[in-house]
Amino acid sequence: MENPVMKYTELEYIGRGTFGDVCRALDNATGEQVAIKKINLQELRKKELKVNELMLMKPNKNPNLVNYLDSYLVDGQRWLVMEYMDGGTLSDVISKTHLSEDEMAAISRECLQGLDFLHSNLVIHRDVKSSNILLRTDGSVKLADSGPFAQLTPEQSRRSSVASISGWMAPEVVTGQPCGPKVDIWSFGIMGIEMAEGEVPYQYETPVSAQLLIARGGRPKLRQPNLFSPCLRGFLSCCLQTDEAWRWSAKELLQHPFVTLAEPASCLVPLIVSVKKRKETRM
Ligand code: ATP
Repeated sequence: MENPVMKYTELEYIGRGTFGDVCRALDNATGEQVAIKKINLQELRKKELKVNELMLMKPNKNPNLVNYLDSYLVDGQRWLVMEYMDGGTLSDVISKTHLSEDEMAAISRECLQGLDFLHSNLVIHRDVKSSNILLRTDGSVKLADSGPFAQLTPEQSRRSSVASISGWMAPEVVTGQPCGPKVDIWSFGIMGIEMAEGEVPYQYETPVSAQLLIARGGRPKLRQPNLFSPCLRGFLSCCLQTDEAWRWSAKELLQHPFVTLAEPASCLVPLIVSVKKRKETRM
């Protein structure tokens, strides 16, 4: 019954996603900053709306997921109020600086913890990529949901609907086969290549040829493998198995030495803060 227009003061426009605009706002009662995603309900297909509503109702709080605080209906828009991530996206970081293996390992562990939580709750993210990893200047790394989360039931452990083709998609997704949680692990492995080399495989291909290359190209490889440790190369290879039966789960990857030896997330503070400062000085 609360009126969100009175509850929050909008501070700035952050950006536009597929489903609507996101802005930074102040919670007038607590003084806390929040992010508000304003979703135009007409832009959502009915099915996705159902999935999203389902997700919002779930008690899906986890330190590695961007948490939802509230949801309102305002003039035909769904306002989703979430915690504000002041460090931007992993994609900003990758485009502006070179990540060390220690930083990659800490980011990987945080992402895998989020994925393990979702998968344990029978949820597939389906859009793991660097622009959906949000950061905070205290070193937090969280998976944002951009809309297409898919909920599985214990009886139905695979889904077959396909979103538009992207370089992060697993072979079983581009070939339209029923998909399980391991599609997120493939995308996470592609994100590993992106963190290491700054580019996603097949980035410059057309969607059709990227689709063919993902479907038939086998395991994507680092362009200059010798620049990276055997531990990192082994870790990526566990994520990027074309046969999903051989691909490791999030839980298994959390036991890989690349991740178990990773430093705490606080090691990411200098990186996130410096990229944020560079972004602000350019504005
Ligand atoms: P798509 O919807 O196509 O996946 P997207 O992920 O960029 O694209 P949104 O999730 O709507 O779309 O985000 C729009 C912008 O708002 C992006 O720049 C994103 O980084 C930023 N953003 C989203 N959520 C938050 C948040 N909780 N805190 C800070 N910034 C956010």
